[in-house]
Amino acid sequence: MARAAAYKEPAPIHDRDNPFESMMARFDRAADVLGLDEETYNVLKSPARQVLVSLPVTMDNGKVRVFEGFRVIHSTILGPSKGGIRYDNGVFLDEVKALAAWMTWKCAVVDIPYGGAKGGIICDPTQLSDGEKERLTRAYTASLVDIFGEDQDIPAPDMGTGPREMAWLMDEYSKTRGKTINAVVTGKPLVLGGSLGRTEATGRGVMVTTLAALAKLGMKPEETSCVVQGFGNVGSWAARLLAERGVKVKGVSDISGAYWNEAGIDIEAAIRFKDANAGRLNGFTGATPMNPDDLLTSAVDVLVPAAVENVITDQNADRIQAKLIVEGANGPTAASADDILNSKGLLVVPDILANAGGVTVSYFEWVQNRMGFKWDLETVNQRADHIMTEAFNKVYATSQRHNESMRIAAYIVAIDKVATTYRFRGGF
Ligand code: NAD
Repeated sequence: MARAAAYKEPAPIHDRDNPFESMMARFDRAADVLGLDEETYNVLKSPARQVLVSLPVTMDNGKVRVFEGFRVIHSTILGPSKGGIRYDNGVFLDEVKALAAWMTWKCAVVDIPYGGAKGGIICDPTQLSDGEKERLTRAYTASLVDIFGEDQDIPAPDMGTGPREMAWLMDEYSKTRGKTINAVVTGKPLVLGGSLGRTEATGRGVMVTTLAALAKLGMKPEETSCVVQGFGNVGSWAARLLAERGVKVKGVSDISGAYWNEAGIDIEAAIRFKDANAGRLNGFTGATPMNPDDLLTSAVDVLVPAAVENVITDQNADRIQAKLIVEGANGPTAASADDILNSKGLLVVPDILANAGGVTVSYFEWVQNRMGFKWDLETVNQRADHIMTEAFNKVYATSQRHNESMRIAAYIVAIDKVATTYRFRGGF
């Protein structure tokens, strides 16, 4: 008989590229600059709650399989915790802890009244049928029904999940409460109370912060070239919106490979191709295949990593030729690369600022659900652009004042806000 093994955290990776330690390396530096007292430091670094769940699910073959899941609530100091749910075979607790903490800092940087959380289920969603995914999502929701709540902890999609899973979650949660509560989750389909503009929100924020950074560097969008790593939701929208503003997107990549066109890629054609080709770019004739490792170090002005964690490391940072990096992905730069990038004088718009457009419009979705009212697309975009621009300016000014990188400045802004709120609220 095959026995399901209890969840065991993978052996700890004690290097600065472990996501939690990568996050803590920046946190520590910002805490030093702020002169954070030891008590507050300890409160802010510790996740408030870490929940491990076992989820028995009947598979299509009639057998019951037990899945392991997590929900980490890093902080509720600023408000209800907010953060996505990741379905991935490789998801592990340290990663979810880092992602939950990043959500706390991200919400604080853009000044929205949320704490941070993240969830995950160890599974390969591509190997599950729709029915199995539905039962798994409902089992996860049922086991966390006391954790989730529209005023408590508000999930959203992350890798491997999307509007479909959020609809099941909303429905399962609503059933237990005996009424429809759509504000318990964001990233829902539009008909269930999703927000206009949510799909493109993260890519749009990447575009807004890229243009703001180019202005600081005295560069004009129409005279600027860029490459985008990752051509999913964030990467394809960032590429499209940057191209619309005149930036020449010379290279893009996805899991199938990297593609280059010196004259600029026709992004609309690339998106049409990907949509008709199961989400992948392989076979796209509007560009020439290139070595994916070379994409990050190619001769362009702007690099937008919008795929996965730890792609910029101490192994390739010194070869990066771009003048500006805008982090669409979460954690694309390992802490080990920070000093190299800084010494090269590169401007890096860090993840917790650059990709915060997504959580900002998720917040708008929650606000609209609670108002029982729908905003038009123009209102959503205008308000989101305003928040992203304000956050960029605040982080930039902080980086100038403290003579620190934009990354450390973003942590300073975030930690200062959460620490000040904590001191007013107090502990036990
Ligand atoms: P997605 O699944 O829509 O797209 C991911 C893309 O990356 C795909 O094109 C995939 O082929 C590509 N990819 C995967 N591995 C790759 C590799 N090794 N090299 C090159 N390309 C690779 O995901 P997404 O929603 O676009 O998220 C991308 C990143 O942005 C993640 O780090 C995510 O956490 C972060 N993020 C997403 C949002 C959002 O609103 N979707 C918000 C904030 C942050």
